[in-house]
Amino acid sequence: MPQAPVVVHGSDLAGWTVVKELRKHDSSTPVLQVTAGTGDPYPKPALSTAYAQNKTPDQLRNALAAELAATLNLQLQTHTRALSVDLSRQELHTDQGLFAYSRLVLTHGTDPIGIPLHGDAAATVLSVNQMADYILLREQLQPGMRVLIMGAGLIGCEFTNDLILAGFKVQLVDPAPRPLAALLPEQAGLQLQEALTTLGVA
Ligand SMILES: Cc1cc2nc3c(=O)[nH]c(=O)nc-3n(C[C@H](O)[C@H](O)[C@H](O)COP(=O)(O)OP(=O)(O)OC[C@H]3O[C@@H](n4cnc5c(N)ncnc54)[C@H](O)[C@@H]3O)c2cc1C
Repeated sequence: MPQAPVVVHGSDLAGWTVVKELRKHDSSTPVLQVTAGTGDPYPKPALSTAYAQNKTPDQLRNALAAELAATLNLQLQTHTRALSVDLSRQELHTDQGLFAYSRLVLTHGTDPIGIPLHGDAAATVLSVNQMADYILLREQLQPGMRVLIMGAGLIGCEFTNDLILAGFKVQLVDPAPRPLAALLPEQAGLQLQEALTTLGVA
């Protein structure tokens, strides 16, 4: 029987880092990386600061997944969504079939919190948590649009700054009394609010 591979599930920051570290110690154990997207690595934090710089998805990409997989001597299974794990049989079940594993590494990230919204536009709200979302955002933004951002945390404030610099009219909403309320002391939060307001953010 051939040795079942180490299966790494997810191929963004954590997924690619774990296989690079594994390969530093072990160049031969079979590795299979299974991921829902394209697998192309990119710096996710750049998504919330890239629009004003007019960065295209191609410019944000660090490498092509297929080339990186060849360099790291691993098999890559893209556009494959994991559905469940059978621990006793050591199998990962996906929408493209099942994969036996010797070890399973879960690096599938997190989903954005879904706010229970009502109304006929509720289904059109975008969450930008991965490259595919950024591509959709770029497709949907048209010059002069008014954009409402929900959540004045780090990423909401970054997107607000990015989109106001790109020329959009931006409203930032949050139940807290000021931006970054959970992270900054009141005085600093008020200064940030003033700076955003000066830029034209409501
Ligand atoms: C806009 C934005 C800005 C950010 N800015 C910062 C910052 O400035 N500083 C900072 O420290 N952090 C920042 N973060 C957070 C940081 O990017 C994440 O913590 C980090 O990317 C998490 O990496 P990960 O590999 O664990 O998960 P993810 O990057 O979410 O990767 C998950 C991978 O799993 C795959 N996957 C998911 N579900 C399945 C499934 N069912 N089957 C198969 N594959 C699946 C996905 O396709 C993807 O390849 C930011 C995040 C965002 C969204």
